Parts: sequence; structure tokens; C-alpha cells
Amino acid sequence: MFCKTCGTLLTPKTTPYGKWLACPNGHPQPELNQISTTQIQKNTHLAKPIEVADSINILAVHDHLCTKCGYNKAELMEISASYSDEDNCYRMKCGKCGHVDILEGKLK
Ligand SMILES: [Zn+2]
Ligand SMILES: [Zn+2]
Repeated sequence: MFCKTCGTLLTPKTTPYGKWLACPNGHPQPELNQISTTQIQKNTHLAKPIEVADSINILAVHDHLCTKCGYNKAELMEISASYSDEDNCYRMKCGKCGHVDILEGKLK
């Protein structure tokens, strides 16, 4: 492989992101950099856990006062009333202690 700008033979270069061929004169090699970028994206594609132990539930974004500990944010979990014609029931899971309050009817 030769530099597309000056034609100098490319030399292996080690960086924090991996190894690739680079021009000794510092000219960028667009094709090589594209391959490198793809590899970086694959390596950083990590799934984030939704809930973390011993911390506030990030899904608890709804205003609801916990009847157990008094925390004012809760995670909404809807239960569809598929078995009857009545209004849906909602469960509000406290974002702090995990206590679940059951609400009947529709949310405002
Ligand atoms: Zn060059
Ligand atoms: Zn609570």
C-alpha cells in the first residue's frame, strides 16, 4: 500500500484505536480510516442495562407519590383490561423502593 497523496510506502502505525497503515508524512488515508471507524463502532456497541441495582429506576418518570416511602416518581406499567369492559388498571412502581401501587381508571 502506498500513500494516495505522496506515494510513499505506508508503514504500520499503532494507535489507541488499533493498528493500521499510515503515511510517514502524516497524509490521511480515507479508505483505511473508514475501515477503522467501522471496527470502532462495532466494539462500542454495548447494550446498556435498563435498571441498575441500588440506584433510582431511570424509567420512573411519572408523577406518583409512593404510599410506602413517599418518593414522588414511579414507573408506569399498564395492564390492559382485555378480560372485561371496565377501565384499565395501572400499576405504578416506585422508582426508589420498588413498591407497586395499583391505580384504577384512566390517568389524567
Ligand atoms: Zn503521504
Ligand atoms: Zn417507594
